[in-house]
Amino acid sequence: MRYKRILLKLSGEALMGQQQYGIDSARLQQYAEEIKRVKDMGVELAIVIGGGNIYRGVQAEKSGIDRVQGDYMGMLATVINAMALQSILEKNNIYTRLMSGFDIEKVCEPFIRRRAIRHLEKGRVVIFGAGIGSPYFTTDSTASLRAIEIEADIVLKGTRVDGVYTADPEKDPNAEKYHNITFNDVISKGLNVMDTTAFTLCQENNLPIRVFDMNVPGNLYNLIIGEEVGTLIE
Ligand code: UDP
Repeated sequence: MRYKRILLKLSGEALMGQQQYGIDSARLQQYAEEIKRVKDMGVELAIVIGGGNIYRGVQAEKSGIDRVQGDYMGMLATVINAMALQSILEKNNIYTRLMSGFDIEKVCEPFIRRRAIRHLEKGRVVIFGAGIGSPYFTTDSTASLRAIEIEADIVLKGTRVDGVYTADPEKDPNAEKYHNITFNDVISKGLNVMDTTAFTLCQENNLPIRVFDMNVPGNLYNLIIGEEVGTLIE
């Protein structure tokens, strides 16, 4: 087992599956199975989930909604996703706790660092909803911050692309994949891995990031057992 404690970041968009909006239950079930497989190996697993399949703060101003209000709407969207994920994980017999970045006590525990670590030690999957709980941040920044706080070994950024490329592989057929790359090279080459706040937090705290395709069955398991999956940034 290459990693003992991981922070898995899932984007909201990934939950859409083939849909244009919302949550695809087949995709959620697939994720639950992937998560269960590594959980059963004894990996301690925390998850940060995005909200882009429902709402993003940057959309707000276009529709006349105040940006800060929009960011809170985005954070609420992450709670909706987190609740859906929690429910499906529990259906798959995985113990979970949902912790929120702001008070929403009917459905989430507050985020308390020591308590989050205790949950992980007891073998519960901890899901972090509502981002950091402050506007102008993203769930990528939340993933970096929470990973540092819980002393995770790595941030695993599960996306629909299987790593970091020299150019956008969905647009440029000549794009080549990096298997390993340094933080400094990502910056000097202007590659897009995470937003700057999220990326710098990892760099400054020597927290490696692995970008991989979460939609390929077995990828999460394979990278945990040490196979070269996606791109490692360190
Ligand atoms: N958000 C925020 N603060 C946070 C995390 C998220 O304001 O700490 C808001 C922000 O508006 C963001 C939205 O929640 O656009 C949804 O999160 P994100 O865009 O990171 O989701 P993803 O792209 O991963 O689906």
